[in-house]
Amino acid sequence: MSATILNGKAFAGRLLERVTEHVAVLKTEGIVPGLAVVLVGEDPPSQIYVRNKGIATKEAGMNSYEFRMPADTPEADLLAKVKELNADPAVNGILVQLPLPGHIDDKKVINTIAPEKDVDGFHILNVGRLATGQRAMVSCTPLGCLLLLRDHLGDLSGKDAVVIGRSNIVGKPMAQLLLGESCTVTIAHSRTKDLAEVVRRADIVVAAVGRPQMVPGDWIKPGATVIDVGINRVPAPEKGEGKTRVVGDVDYDSAVEVAGAITPVPGGVGPLTIACLLANTVTACCRANDLPEPEGLSV
Ligand code: NAD
Repeated sequence: MSATILNGKAFAGRLLERVTEHVAVLKTEGIVPGLAVVLVGEDPPSQIYVRNKGIATKEAGMNSYEFRMPADTPEADLLAKVKELNADPAVNGILVQLPLPGHIDDKKVINTIAPEKDVDGFHILNVGRLATGQRAMVSCTPLGCLLLLRDHLGDLSGKDAVVIGRSNIVGKPMAQLLLGESCTVTIAHSRTKDLAEVVRRADIVVAAVGRPQMVPGDWIKPGATVIDVGINRVPAPEKGEGKTRVVGDVDYDSAVEVAGAITPVPGGVGPLTIACLLANTVTACCRANDLPEPEGLSV
């Protein structure tokens, strides 16, 4: 039997509708949420991400502030910019696009962002709040995965969940979120012994590794829900010489025959990240103004 395809693009569209509706409500109170994005240097993928974030922010009716700084910007100047944005009441969310040039300490920069404006959820206080079950700003990609899981499965309590990957951006916060939902969570990583056996017992598998199609269908427990975070570019000679295509960390064609539900790549987790960034900005704005938060867009 073929799995239910979890259409991340459609789900992200629904999240964005809710964000846009809430922005309209805030506007009736004379409040417009604002997201500031800072880009240092000219990394081409980062330029595309920043442009897309700006477009999506404006489409949702929010104010978008973009700051581009040269690659040789001294760390002190970037920290001063972050502090200026911390103090600006029109700015509810601050995102410093990563990676930063090598001479800048990214941890120092992230931990200089006011935690309540840290819409990426990377500040040490937000990481600690999430880990201790306190109200936090949560990293956008894992937040999107959790909202999608809740939407599909409802109550996650008691489910066996395996997160493959232990990065600070995806794996660890994802595991914390699932623990917060009362799942029994295993975090697997590059040193895990017998990964196949670990994955086989999971009702929920979240793969966030960055290795093309490394999880085959015969590792998946029949009926499990599979969230594939991986984005890997591989050669696609069938499309022509030098062409590539994007695949996930899960071997989709075999997994779709076993899983109960699965996210495709592309079109699964990918679109959720920007939607959750905007959701976090609205949440931050509501918290800053002591107004009710939109339901179902935060944890
Ligand atoms: P990362 O490189 O920081 O972490 C990868 C993790 O995978 C590590 O913790 C490592 O221990 C683990 N790992 C490596 N080899 C392994 C193996 N053989 N078996 C088990 N675990 C192994 O990567 P990341 O930033 O967490 O990103 C992971 C993937 O998710 C990448 O493909 C990235 O492009 C993608 N990603 C997608 C989105 C999105 O969809 N919006 C956002 C962030 C990351």
